[in-house]
Amino acid sequence: MRRQIIFATGNMGKMREIRDILRNIDADILSMKEAGIETDIVEDGTTFEENAVIKAKAVAGLLTEHDGGKYRDAIVLADDSGLEIDYLNKEPGIYSARYMGEHMPYSAKNQNLLKRLAGVPVEKRGARFVCAIAAVMPDGEVITTLGTIEGRIGDRAEGNNGFGYDPIFYVPEYGCTTAQLSEEEKNRISHRGRALEAMEAELKKKL
Ligand code: IMP
Repeated sequence: MRRQIIFATGNMGKMREIRDILRNIDADILSMKEAGIETDIVEDGTTFEENAVIKAKAVAGLLTEHDGGKYRDAIVLADDSGLEIDYLNKEPGIYSARYMGEHMPYSAKNQNLLKRLAGVPVEKRGARFVCAIAAVMPDGEVITTLGTIEGRIGDRAEGNNGFGYDPIFYVPEYGCTTAQLSEEEKNRISHRGRALEAMEAELKKKL
């Protein structure tokens, strides 16, 4: 039977990106929804890696029973990502999605962060997006990879592409924020793109 990879996310943007990056791996790539899996996972790890492993293991743990064991031999992937701002001791970090509340619009979260950095000079505005990817193999082996993109917090929100904190994340090499890059440009240099490429290399060794 063809190899199956289940990516533990409900986010269609992430599914597009992962399908594109793993296109040379001979496997069907399914979202949790496509595999018919629904579960609420408590992300109580203290690092991006820990949270990615918690998510991947939680889904992998359901596979022996789920749908008559149809996905028993699937590889489960999960990611966890966020923004670290040096001046704020790496806040919001693993709490990026929950910062100021899960349902608070990002326009407000971004304005709040800009306010907290008001008057802070450029050299102290360093920040990075971080993404950890975890894979749980059918034999239970766990592999993790990490990707980052370095930048700084701009003086104002700029750009309408992307999502989340993109409008305030300025990338000096490109002279713009990640919200001003096209999806393809961002995927090529992003934390998630880099972590996924590292994972592709790891999976290729195994398959
Ligand atoms: P999760 O990894 O899906 O739990 O999301 C983590 C949170 O980090 C997102 O909700 C965003 O707030 C933030 N984040 C992660 N990656 C990006 C990015 O590429 N652009 C903007 N915000 C991001």
